[in-house]
Amino acid sequence: MEVAVVAIGTELLLGQIVDSNSARIGQVLAANGFSSHLQLKVGDNHERIVAALELALSEADAVITSGGLGPTQDDITREAIAQVSGRPLKEDARVRSVIEGLFAARGRTMSVNNYRQAMVPEGATVIEQRKGTAPGLIVPVGEKVIVALPGVPYELDDMLANEVLAELRARRSDTTVIQSRVIRTWGLGESTLAELMAPRFEALEGSAVTIAFLASGIEGVKVRFTAAATDAAVVLGLLDEEELRAREVLGDYVFGVDDETLEGVVARAALDKSLTIATAESLTGGMLASQLVRVPGASTWFRGGVVSYARSVKEDLLGVVAPSVVSPEAARAMAEGVARLVGADIGLSTTGVAGPDELEGQPTGVVWIGMSANGRSAARRVQLLGDRERIRTYATATALDLARL
Ligand code: ATP
Ligand code: MG
Repeated sequence: MEVAVVAIGTELLLGQIVDSNSARIGQVLAANGFSSHLQLKVGDNHERIVAALELALSEADAVITSGGLGPTQDDITREAIAQVSGRPLKEDARVRSVIEGLFAARGRTMSVNNYRQAMVPEGATVIEQRKGTAPGLIVPVGEKVIVALPGVPYELDDMLANEVLAELRARRSDTTVIQSRVIRTWGLGESTLAELMAPRFEALEGSAVTIAFLASGIEGVKVRFTAAATDAAVVLGLLDEEELRAREVLGDYVFGVDDETLEGVVARAALDKSLTIATAESLTGGMLASQLVRVPGASTWFRGGVVSYARSVKEDLLGVVAPSVVSPEAARAMAEGVARLVGADIGLSTTGVAGPDELEGQPTGVVWIGMSANGRSAARRVQLLGDRERIRTYATATALDLARL
Protein backbone atom coordinates (compact mmCIF):
# COMPACT_ATOMS: atom_id res chain seq x y z
CA MET A 1 0.00 0.00 0.00
CA GLU A 2 1.31 3.35 -1.13
CA VAL A 3 0.96 6.45 1.07
CA ALA A 4 1.77 10.01 -0.07
CA VAL A 5 2.40 12.97 2.22
CA VAL A 6 1.37 16.59 1.65
CA ALA A 7 2.74 19.16 4.10
CA ILE A 8 0.72 22.37 3.96
CA GLY A 9 1.94 25.80 5.04
CA THR A 10 3.58 28.78 3.33
CA GLU A 11 6.06 29.00 6.24
CA LEU A 12 7.47 25.62 5.10
CA LEU A 13 8.27 27.03 1.66
CA LEU A 14 9.85 30.15 3.12
CA GLY A 15 12.10 28.03 5.30
CA GLN A 16 10.71 29.59 8.47
CA ILE A 17 9.93 26.12 9.79
CA VAL A 18 11.66 22.90 8.87
CA ASP A 19 9.16 20.30 7.70
CA SER A 20 9.78 17.80 10.48
CA ASN A 21 6.22 16.46 10.17
CA SER A 22 6.91 14.84 6.78
CA ALA A 23 10.08 13.27 8.19
CA ARG A 24 8.12 11.95 11.16
CA ILE A 25 5.34 10.56 8.96
CA GLY A 26 7.98 8.95 6.71
CA GLN A 27 9.61 7.26 9.70
CA VAL A 28 6.32 5.93 11.06
CA LEU A 29 5.22 4.65 7.64
CA ALA A 30 8.56 2.90 7.04
CA ALA A 31 8.60 1.39 10.52
CA ASN A 32 5.14 -0.03 9.91
CA GLY A 33 5.78 -1.40 6.44
CA PHE A 34 3.93 1.14 4.31
CA SER A 35 5.69 2.27 1.19
CA SER A 36 5.86 5.97 0.52
CA HIS A 37 7.44 7.46 -2.57
CA LEU A 38 6.00 10.94 -2.73
CA GLN A 39 6.12 13.88 -0.33
CA LEU A 40 4.92 17.32 -1.37
CA LYS A 41 5.12 20.73 0.25
CA VAL A 42 2.59 23.38 -0.67
CA GLY A 43 1.71 26.88 0.55
CA ASP A 44 -1.58 28.14 1.96
CA ASN A 45 -3.28 28.61 -1.40
CA HIS A 46 -6.54 26.88 -2.25
CA GLU A 47 -5.87 26.01 -5.91
CA ARG A 48 -2.36 24.77 -5.18
CA ILE A 49 -3.46 22.62 -2.27
CA VAL A 50 -6.19 21.12 -4.46
CA ALA A 51 -3.64 20.42 -7.21
CA ALA A 52 -1.20 18.85 -4.73
CA LEU A 53 -3.93 16.62 -3.27
CA GLU A 54 -5.00 15.50 -6.74
CA LEU A 55 -1.44 14.66 -7.70
CA ALA A 56 -0.89 12.78 -4.43
CA LEU A 57 -4.14 10.84 -4.88
CA SER A 58 -3.16 9.86 -8.40
CA GLU A 59 0.12 8.36 -7.10
CA ALA A 60 -0.99 6.71 -3.85
CA ASP A 61 -3.79 4.79 -2.13
CA ALA A 62 -3.80 7.11 0.85
CA VAL A 63 -2.69 10.70 1.41
CA ILE A 64 -1.70 12.17 4.76
CA THR A 65 -1.73 15.95 5.07
CA SER A 66 -0.21 18.07 7.82
CA GLY A 67 -1.22 21.59 8.79
CA GLY A 68 -3.87 24.11 7.91
CA LEU A 69 -6.58 22.75 10.20
CA GLY A 70 -6.49 25.65 12.64
CA PRO A 71 -9.08 28.40 13.08
CA THR A 72 -7.37 31.21 11.15
CA GLN A 73 -8.11 32.42 7.60
CA ASP A 74 -4.95 30.85 6.25
CA ASP A 75 -5.98 27.42 7.51
CA ILE A 76 -7.75 26.17 4.39
CA THR A 77 -6.97 22.45 4.26
CA ARG A 78 -10.59 21.56 5.09
CA GLU A 79 -11.96 23.52 2.12
CA ALA A 80 -9.44 21.99 -0.28
CA ILE A 81 -10.23 18.47 0.87
CA ALA A 82 -13.96 19.17 0.58
CA GLN A 83 -13.45 20.14 -3.05
CA VAL A 84 -11.17 17.21 -3.97
CA SER A 85 -13.38 14.62 -2.26
CA GLY A 86 -16.66 16.16 -3.46
CA ARG A 87 -17.86 16.17 0.13
CA PRO A 88 -19.22 19.59 1.17
CA LEU A 89 -18.37 20.93 4.64
CA LYS A 90 -21.04 20.59 7.31
CA GLU A 91 -20.87 21.64 10.91
CA ASP A 92 -20.30 18.66 13.19
CA ALA A 93 -22.29 19.19 16.37
CA ARG A 94 -20.04 16.97 18.47
CA VAL A 95 -16.83 18.70 17.36
CA ARG A 96 -18.50 22.05 18.01
CA SER A 97 -19.42 21.12 21.54
CA VAL A 98 -15.92 19.73 22.25
CA ILE A 99 -14.37 23.02 21.09
CA GLU A 100 -16.89 25.02 23.13
CA GLY A 101 -15.99 22.84 26.14
CA LEU A 102 -12.25 23.47 25.63
CA PHE A 103 -12.81 27.23 25.56
CA ALA A 104 -15.13 27.17 28.57
CA ALA A 105 -12.58 25.14 30.56
CA ARG A 106 -9.93 27.76 29.86
CA GLY A 107 -12.31 30.61 30.62
CA ARG A 108 -11.92 32.03 27.10
CA THR A 109 -14.62 33.15 24.70
CA MET A 110 -14.77 31.62 21.25
CA SER A 111 -14.34 33.81 18.20
CA VAL A 112 -16.38 33.24 15.06
CA ASN A 113 -13.26 31.74 13.46
CA ASN A 114 -13.05 28.97 16.02
CA TYR A 115 -16.33 27.54 14.71
CA ARG A 116 -14.59 26.86 11.40
CA GLN A 117 -12.80 23.98 13.11
CA ALA A 118 -16.17 22.27 13.58
CA MET A 119 -16.68 22.11 9.81
CA VAL A 120 -16.22 18.56 8.56
CA PRO A 121 -16.51 17.09 5.04
CA GLU A 122 -19.74 15.07 4.76
CA GLY A 123 -19.13 11.41 5.54
CA ALA A 124 -15.70 12.00 7.06
CA THR A 125 -14.59 10.45 10.33
CA VAL A 126 -13.34 12.89 12.94
CA ILE A 127 -10.15 12.13 14.90
CA GLU A 128 -10.56 13.48 18.39
CA GLN A 129 -8.32 16.43 19.33
CA ARG A 130 -6.86 15.00 22.55
CA LYS A 131 -3.87 17.37 22.55
CA GLY A 132 -5.12 20.54 20.86
CA THR A 133 -8.18 22.22 19.39
CA ALA A 134 -7.92 20.99 15.79
CA PRO A 135 -9.55 17.62 15.14
CA GLY A 136 -8.05 15.35 12.50
CA LEU A 137 -10.11 14.09 9.56
CA ILE A 138 -10.36 10.79 7.73
CA VAL A 139 -12.02 11.52 4.40
CA PRO A 140 -12.83 8.73 1.94
CA VAL A 141 -12.26 9.66 -1.72
CA GLY A 142 -13.64 6.82 -3.83
CA GLU A 143 -11.54 3.77 -2.97
CA LYS A 144 -8.84 6.01 -1.54
CA VAL A 145 -8.57 8.19 1.53
CA ILE A 146 -7.19 11.55 2.67
CA VAL A 147 -6.15 11.78 6.30
CA ALA A 148 -5.77 15.39 7.48
CA LEU A 149 -3.69 16.06 10.59
CA PRO A 150 -2.95 19.30 12.47
CA GLY A 151 0.44 20.93 11.95
CA VAL A 152 1.54 21.05 15.58
CA PRO A 153 4.01 18.14 15.82
CA TYR A 154 2.88 16.58 19.10
CA GLU A 155 -0.78 16.74 18.06
CA LEU A 156 0.11 15.09 14.74
CA ASP A 157 2.28 12.41 16.40
CA ASP A 158 -0.52 11.37 18.70
CA MET A 159 -3.08 10.91 15.91
CA LEU A 160 -0.55 9.27 13.62
CA ALA A 161 0.35 6.58 16.14
CA ASN A 162 -3.27 5.77 16.88
CA GLU A 163 -6.17 6.42 14.50
CA VAL A 164 -4.06 6.91 11.37
CA LEU A 165 -2.09 3.68 11.62
CA ALA A 166 -5.30 1.83 12.47
CA GLU A 167 -7.00 3.25 9.37
CA LEU A 168 -4.06 2.43 7.09
CA ARG A 169 -3.74 -1.10 8.47
CA ALA A 170 -7.44 -1.72 7.95
CA ARG A 171 -7.06 -0.66 4.31
CA ARG A 172 -3.97 -2.70 3.62
CA SER A 173 -4.81 -5.60 1.29
CA ASP A 174 -1.33 -7.01 0.73
CA THR A 175 0.22 -8.73 3.70
CA THR A 176 3.86 -8.00 2.95
CA VAL A 177 5.97 -7.38 6.02
CA ILE A 178 8.67 -4.77 5.44
CA GLN A 179 11.29 -4.11 8.08
CA SER A 180 14.62 -2.32 8.27
CA ARG A 181 17.73 -2.67 10.35
CA VAL A 182 20.38 0.00 10.59
CA ILE A 183 24.02 -0.92 11.20
CA ARG A 184 25.76 1.97 12.95
CA THR A 185 29.45 2.63 12.25
CA TRP A 186 32.05 5.18 13.29
CA GLY A 187 35.48 5.87 11.82
CA LEU A 188 34.89 5.03 8.16
CA GLY A 189 34.00 7.47 5.40
CA GLU A 190 30.84 6.77 3.43
CA SER A 191 32.71 5.91 0.25
CA THR A 192 35.16 3.53 1.97
CA LEU A 193 32.25 1.83 3.65
CA ALA A 194 30.35 1.53 0.38
CA GLU A 195 33.45 0.02 -1.21
CA LEU A 196 33.77 -2.57 1.54
CA MET A 197 30.10 -3.45 1.17
CA ALA A 198 30.15 -3.47 -2.65
CA PRO A 199 30.25 -7.28 -3.04
CA ARG A 200 27.20 -7.64 -0.79
CA PHE A 201 25.49 -4.76 -2.56
CA GLU A 202 25.86 -6.60 -5.87
CA ALA A 203 24.84 -9.94 -4.41
CA LEU A 204 21.62 -8.45 -3.06
CA GLU A 205 20.57 -6.93 -6.39
CA GLY A 206 17.09 -8.17 -7.30
CA SER A 207 16.67 -9.97 -3.95
CA ALA A 208 14.16 -9.30 -1.16
CA VAL A 209 16.71 -7.16 0.64
CA THR A 210 17.75 -3.63 -0.29
CA ILE A 211 20.73 -1.79 1.11
CA ALA A 212 21.33 1.94 1.55
CA PHE A 213 24.15 4.07 2.95
CA LEU A 214 23.52 7.17 5.00
CA ALA A 215 26.23 9.56 6.18
CA SER A 216 24.82 11.12 9.36
CA GLY A 217 27.55 13.43 10.64
CA ILE A 218 28.08 13.03 14.35
CA GLU A 219 25.94 9.87 14.25
CA GLY A 220 28.42 8.16 11.96
CA VAL A 221 27.72 6.37 8.71
CA LYS A 222 24.69 4.09 8.71
CA VAL A 223 24.02 1.06 6.56
CA ARG A 224 20.31 0.32 6.30
CA PHE A 225 19.00 -3.06 5.22
CA THR A 226 15.33 -3.37 4.32
CA ALA A 227 13.76 -6.79 3.85
CA ALA A 228 10.32 -7.68 2.51
CA ALA A 229 8.46 -10.98 2.75
CA THR A 230 5.01 -12.27 3.62
CA ASP A 231 6.32 -13.96 6.76
CA ALA A 232 7.67 -11.80 9.60
CA ALA A 233 10.04 -14.57 10.72
CA VAL A 234 11.57 -14.72 7.25
CA VAL A 235 12.13 -10.95 7.30
CA LEU A 236 13.85 -11.18 10.68
CA GLY A 237 16.03 -14.03 9.43
CA LEU A 238 17.11 -12.03 6.37
CA LEU A 239 17.99 -9.01 8.50
CA ASP A 240 19.90 -11.13 11.04
CA GLU A 241 21.94 -12.64 8.23
CA GLU A 242 22.77 -9.25 6.72
CA GLU A 243 23.77 -7.87 10.12
CA LEU A 244 26.10 -10.82 10.66
CA ARG A 245 27.72 -10.42 7.23
CA ALA A 246 28.08 -6.65 7.68
CA ARG A 247 29.75 -7.15 11.06
CA GLU A 248 32.17 -9.63 9.46
CA VAL A 249 33.18 -7.12 6.82
CA LEU A 250 33.15 -3.95 8.93
CA GLY A 251 34.47 -5.44 12.16
CA ASP A 252 35.14 -3.00 14.95
CA TYR A 253 33.85 -0.03 12.96
CA VAL A 254 30.35 -1.25 13.89
CA PHE A 255 29.28 0.13 17.25
CA GLY A 256 25.63 -0.82 17.29
CA VAL A 257 22.33 -1.24 15.46
CA ASP A 258 19.16 0.82 15.01
CA ASP A 259 18.81 3.40 17.80
CA GLU A 260 22.03 2.55 19.63
CA THR A 261 24.35 5.54 20.12
CA LEU A 262 28.07 5.82 20.81
CA GLU A 263 27.42 7.20 24.30
CA GLY A 264 24.89 4.44 24.94
CA VAL A 265 27.46 1.80 24.01
CA VAL A 266 30.06 3.44 26.28
CA ALA A 267 27.51 3.48 29.11
CA ARG A 268 26.70 -0.20 28.68
CA ALA A 269 30.39 -1.15 28.61
CA ALA A 270 31.06 0.84 31.78
CA LEU A 271 28.07 -0.72 33.52
CA ASP A 272 28.96 -4.26 32.43
CA LYS A 273 32.52 -3.89 33.68
CA SER A 274 31.61 -1.81 36.75
CA LEU A 275 33.95 0.97 35.70
CA THR A 276 33.62 4.70 36.31
CA ILE A 277 34.58 7.38 33.77
CA ALA A 278 35.90 10.95 34.03
CA THR A 279 36.60 13.49 31.28
CA ALA A 280 39.21 16.19 30.75
CA GLU A 281 38.38 18.37 27.80
CA SER A 282 40.16 21.09 25.95
CA LEU A 283 38.84 21.79 22.45
CA THR A 284 35.50 20.00 23.08
CA GLY A 285 34.80 22.31 26.02
CA GLY A 286 32.39 20.02 27.85
CA MET A 287 30.70 18.43 24.83
CA LEU A 288 32.07 15.01 25.73
CA ALA A 289 30.72 15.14 29.28
CA SER A 290 27.45 16.53 27.98
CA GLN A 291 27.13 13.71 25.47
CA LEU A 292 27.82 11.09 28.16
CA VAL A 293 25.20 12.43 30.57
CA ARG A 294 22.54 12.21 27.86
CA VAL A 295 22.34 8.54 28.84
CA PRO A 296 19.77 8.03 31.61
CA GLY A 297 21.38 6.73 34.78
CA ALA A 298 24.80 8.19 33.90
CA SER A 299 25.45 8.98 37.54
CA THR A 300 26.23 5.31 38.24
CA TRP A 301 29.30 5.34 35.99
CA PHE A 302 30.12 8.95 35.10
CA ARG A 303 32.09 10.66 37.87
CA GLY A 304 32.55 14.13 36.36
CA GLY A 305 34.87 16.17 34.25
CA VAL A 306 37.12 19.17 33.90
CA VAL A 307 37.09 21.70 31.09
CA SER A 308 40.81 22.41 31.09
CA TYR A 309 40.92 24.98 28.36
CA ALA A 310 43.84 27.16 29.43
CA ARG A 311 47.34 25.70 29.56
CA SER A 312 47.66 26.66 33.22
CA VAL A 313 44.53 24.65 34.13
CA LYS A 314 45.96 21.62 32.33
CA GLU A 315 49.20 22.05 34.25
CA ASP A 316 48.03 23.13 37.68
CA LEU A 317 44.90 21.04 38.01
CA LEU A 318 45.72 17.96 35.96
CA GLY A 319 49.51 17.85 36.25
CA VAL A 320 50.26 18.10 32.55
CA VAL A 321 53.96 18.52 31.83
CA ALA A 322 54.45 18.63 28.08
CA PRO A 323 56.18 20.88 25.58
CA SER A 324 52.95 21.22 23.59
CA VAL A 325 49.35 20.96 24.83
CA VAL A 326 48.49 19.34 21.51
CA SER A 327 50.52 16.19 21.97
CA PRO A 328 50.14 12.56 23.04
CA GLU A 329 51.91 13.39 26.31
CA ALA A 330 49.37 16.13 27.12
CA ALA A 331 46.39 13.94 26.15
CA ARG A 332 47.64 11.07 28.33
CA ALA A 333 48.47 13.30 31.28
CA MET A 334 45.02 14.96 31.09
CA ALA A 335 43.30 11.56 31.13
CA GLU A 336 45.43 10.33 34.03
CA GLY A 337 45.10 13.62 35.88
CA VAL A 338 41.32 13.82 35.79
CA ALA A 339 40.90 10.13 36.73
CA ARG A 340 43.08 10.79 39.77
CA LEU A 341 41.37 14.07 40.58
CA VAL A 342 37.79 12.74 40.65
CA GLY A 343 38.58 9.14 41.52
CA ALA A 344 37.51 7.36 38.33
CA ASP A 345 38.72 4.08 36.77
CA ILE A 346 38.86 5.50 33.25
CA GLY A 347 40.06 8.95 32.21
CA LEU A 348 39.14 10.28 28.79
CA SER A 349 40.60 13.44 27.29
CA THR A 350 40.52 15.65 24.21
CA THR A 351 43.10 18.21 23.16
CA GLY A 352 43.59 19.67 19.71
CA VAL A 353 43.23 22.55 17.32
CA ALA A 354 39.60 23.53 16.63
CA GLY A 355 40.65 26.42 14.40
CA PRO A 356 40.32 28.60 12.49
CA ASP A 357 43.87 29.52 13.53
CA GLU A 358 46.70 27.08 14.04
CA LEU A 359 47.97 26.44 17.55
CA GLU A 360 51.58 25.96 18.64
CA GLY A 361 52.54 25.47 15.01
CA GLN A 362 50.01 22.66 14.50
CA PRO A 363 47.32 22.89 11.81
CA THR A 364 43.57 23.10 12.39
CA GLY A 365 41.95 19.71 12.91
CA VAL A 366 44.78 17.91 14.67
CA VAL A 367 43.24 16.21 17.70
CA TRP A 368 44.69 13.89 20.32
CA ILE A 369 42.32 11.68 22.30
CA GLY A 370 43.76 10.31 25.53
CA MET A 371 42.54 7.42 27.61
CA SER A 372 43.81 6.09 30.91
CA ALA A 373 42.87 3.00 32.88
CA ASN A 374 44.39 2.08 36.22
CA GLY A 375 47.49 4.21 35.79
CA ARG A 376 48.20 3.10 32.22
CA SER A 377 47.40 5.44 29.35
CA ALA A 378 47.41 5.74 25.58
CA ALA A 379 46.64 8.43 23.02
CA ARG A 380 45.29 8.39 19.48
CA ARG A 381 45.78 11.10 16.90
CA VAL A 382 43.14 12.06 14.34
CA GLN A 383 43.20 14.71 11.66
CA LEU A 384 39.68 16.12 11.36
CA LEU A 385 38.31 18.26 8.56
CA GLY A 386 35.86 21.11 8.47
CA ASP A 387 35.00 24.18 10.50
CA ARG A 388 35.40 24.70 14.23
CA GLU A 389 31.99 23.26 15.11
CA ARG A 390 32.51 20.14 13.01
CA ILE A 391 35.98 19.51 14.40
CA ARG A 392 34.69 19.80 17.97
CA THR A 393 31.73 17.46 17.44
CA TYR A 394 33.84 14.90 15.55
CA ALA A 395 36.49 15.04 18.28
CA THR A 396 33.73 14.26 20.79
CA ALA A 397 32.48 11.30 18.78
CA THR A 398 36.02 10.01 18.24
CA ALA A 399 36.61 10.10 22.00
CA LEU A 400 33.36 8.20 22.61
CA ASP A 401 34.40 5.67 19.98
CA LEU A 402 37.72 5.12 21.72
CA ALA A 403 35.94 4.70 25.06
CA ARG A 404 33.82 1.77 23.83
CA LEU A 405 36.39 -0.23 25.89
P1 ATP B 1 -3.28 25.08 14.57
O1 ATP B 1 -4.57 24.62 15.07
O2 ATP B 1 -2.24 25.13 15.65
O3 ATP B 1 -3.33 26.34 13.74
P2 ATP B 1 -2.83 23.80 12.06
O4 ATP B 1 -3.27 22.44 11.66
O5 ATP B 1 -3.54 24.93 11.44
O6 ATP B 1 -2.80 23.88 13.62
P3 ATP B 1 -0.55 25.08 11.10
O7 ATP B 1 -1.23 26.36 11.43
O8 ATP B 1 -0.28 24.78 9.69
O9 ATP B 1 -1.34 23.87 11.70
O10 ATP B 1 0.77 24.93 11.94
C1 ATP B 1 0.76 25.10 13.34
C2 ATP B 1 2.18 25.04 13.83
O11 ATP B 1 2.63 23.70 13.69
C3 ATP B 1 3.17 25.86 13.02
O12 ATP B 1 3.31 27.14 13.48
C4 ATP B 1 4.45 25.09 13.19
O13 ATP B 1 5.08 25.43 14.37
C5 ATP B 1 3.97 23.66 13.26
N1 ATP B 1 4.06 23.00 11.95
C6 ATP B 1 3.19 23.11 10.92
N2 ATP B 1 3.54 22.34 9.90
C7 ATP B 1 4.69 21.73 10.26
C8 ATP B 1 5.56 20.80 9.62
N3 ATP B 1 5.31 20.34 8.38
N4 ATP B 1 6.64 20.38 10.30
C9 ATP B 1 6.89 20.84 11.55
N5 ATP B 1 6.11 21.71 12.20
C10 ATP B 1 5.02 22.16 11.58
MG1 MG C 1 -2.88 27.21 11.91
